Amino acid sequence: MLEMRAAVLRGPEPMVVEQVELDGPEASEVLVRIVACGVCHSDFHVLRRARAGALPIPTVLGHEAAGVVEAVGSSVHTVEPGDHVVLAFRPTCGRCPYCVRGTPQICERPDRRSRSAAGKRPRLRLAGQPLLQGIGVGGFAEYTVMPEGGVIPIRKDVPLETVCLVGCAVTTGVGAVIYTAHIEPGCDVAVLGLGGVGLNIVQGARLAGARRIIGIDRVAAKFDLARQLGATDLIDASSENVLERVQAISGGYLDYAFEAIGRGETVRQAFEMIRPGGTAVAVGLTTEEVTLPGMGLLREKKLVGSMYGSASVMDAIPRMIDLYCQGQLCLDELISKRRPLEEINEAFADLQSGAVARSVLMIANR
Ligand SMILES: [Zn+2]
Ligand SMILES: [Zn+2]
Repeated sequence: MLEMRAAVLRGPEPMVVEQVELDGPEASEVLVRIVACGVCHSDFHVLRRARAGALPIPTVLGHEAAGVVEAVGSSVHTVEPGDHVVLAFRPTCGRCPYCVRGTPQICERPDRRSRSAAGKRPRLRLAGQPLLQGIGVGGFAEYTVMPEGGVIPIRKDVPLETVCLVGCAVTTGVGAVIYTAHIEPGCDVAVLGLGGVGLNIVQGARLAGARRIIGIDRVAAKFDLARQLGATDLIDASSENVLERVQAISGGYLDYAFEAIGRGETVRQAFEMIRPGGTAVAVGLTTEEVTLPGMGLLREKKLVGSMYGSASVMDAIPRMIDLYCQGQLCLDELISKRRPLEEINEAFADLQSGAVARSVLMIANR
């Protein structure tokens, strides 16, 4: 058992960094010393639900983490102590029907490999009481124990405090474009919501050779960065008629629309703005009902869901990092602020206000 510091969410009050206990790795698990962890909208979503009593607390959030392998269980083969790794918040089991059919992003048993005799993860405790790991990682802590399938080895010549973003926002956003939608060069794309994931959809579309990339958001302060990452047109949803503007820019033939907000209403809007035969991709974390105009289906419009960018993380994460090293994928530009773990509440306030593209919490020095 290991004692360490973690930012604990107990309820409506601010999170507090305190001492917690972590069990060492079982046979198929890996102990990782976390160096940095990004603050993602999904954490905020979980935080709100936990505070509303819809999810159990206490919990440690954080799922966009990178670090160094500290120890491995006896059956672990893919990593060894000292390896640099990015953590995947949806570990894959490698054996279920989804994994063996090549769709590990919807693995039905992401925590199976770490299931202890007692039943389930997590391995954390606060003063002897169970402490949950929000979204599978518990990255706002000095260490975590993950199943082998959630620990992705990466090259050592890249800064962990930057490539941690590949653990969620980058793979989710870029993956939605290249693995979920498979867009064609020359197509026209709209992106609803220019947060961490939406900006990565923009740069994924640029990488894939889209002609027009229309960024849509209610906060015009995000437009400069979106343009830098590849957006060709920008629509301020707080003051403009989004559907009319999209129709005008695309001549009525928008091929793809990506929703990166997570609301039923904007998923519908994405479906409405595409041309007959076009594809709307729901990337945001939507728990609301989605209603669609049925006529669109008769015109062969498609709505597809995207989980973790439909990426096979073991393959996709090192690939994205190579694209970063080649200068094709922007990561530094996405990080507006780095803060110590103790400033976690300030980082969440920034996220809520839309003041930053991404904050990264620095947990340890390499
Ligand atoms: Zn995330
Ligand atoms: Zn599986």
